[in-house]
Amino acid sequence: MAGITIGVDVGGTTVAAGLVGPDGQVLEHAQAPTHARGEGRALDTILDLLARLQDSARARGVTVTGVGVGVPGVVESDRGTIGAEIHHVPELAGVPIRERLAQPLGLPVFVDNDVNVLALAEWMWGAGRGARSLVMLALGTGVGGGIILDGRLHRGHAGFGGELGHVPVQFDGPPCICGGRGCLKAYVSGTDIARRGSERLGRPVTAAEIFRLAAAGDPDADAAVDEVCRALGAGLGIIVNGLNPERVLLAGSVAKSLRPLEARLRASLARHSFEGARASTHLEILSLDKAATVRGGAALVHYEIQGETHHDDVRRRTTTS
Ligand SMILES: [Zn+2]
Repeated sequence: MAGITIGVDVGGTTVAAGLVGPDGQVLEHAQAPTHARGEGRALDTILDLLARLQDSARARGVTVTGVGVGVPGVVESDRGTIGAEIHHVPELAGVPIRERLAQPLGLPVFVDNDVNVLALAEWMWGAGRGARSLVMLALGTGVGGGIILDGRLHRGHAGFGGELGHVPVQFDGPPCICGGRGCLKAYVSGTDIARRGSERLGRPVTAAEIFRLAAAGDPDADAAVDEVCRALGAGLGIIVNGLNPERVLLAGSVAKSLRPLEARLRASLARHSFEGARASTHLEILSLDKAATVRGGAALVHYEIQGETHHDDVRRRTTTS
């Protein structure tokens, strides 16, 4: 049994960590600016937070059984090594983070992509509970995905499984930071919504402002928001037709802004998916709290440590229901 675990979420500006109970409840939360110890020293920040949480676990008289870390990039999870594609924390590229953390901590450490672990947490404790398959799409500054198929996290052959922000929704579309063209992210990330909206409005605006202006009836902002709905509908069409998962969960700041526009988003999805596939896939926009990402790391520990037990349990539940 995994019991009490520590979940860590590494972001470009903040590292958050927490002591998490076996039911996914965050018992204690700690966070620090990613580069609190200076540029290029994210690993030291992570170690500081872990030491702090180990101390409080000791003070509470509880035993920590493992540490799970979510990072904003591709991970070779078998080796616990971060790949070259890591956004906003370049100093972690190629770092064997499992080894680097496990030695000083004396605990098992697991590392995976941040949206993969978010998918695991929602599957274990949240909106994905009991589902045999689900896709998590996180729409924030960037766009990431996590895929669970038949009770298993689908990491892909080299860790790229779930990189749904970089599926093309327009093959000759605008260039994307990944080097591709017309990626979903190039239309629906907060950064890209702000950039494309600013061009349309002729002045610098944030993604949140564009959604506010559109709601207030500004026609240019409405056109910008409409493009977001159309692009995301096409992206969701890839997921619904390509995987036909039981549930698709949308999270992140952009997803929250899209809540009042859900009908428009669904209309766009209808243009890009089979009716039968769409009807059988439950789409939901989540409002996750700040603790959700920390729960992700904890869910990864449970998935890895008691993985087989849990999978058997899910299989039993889904085959008998
Ligand atoms: Zn891309």
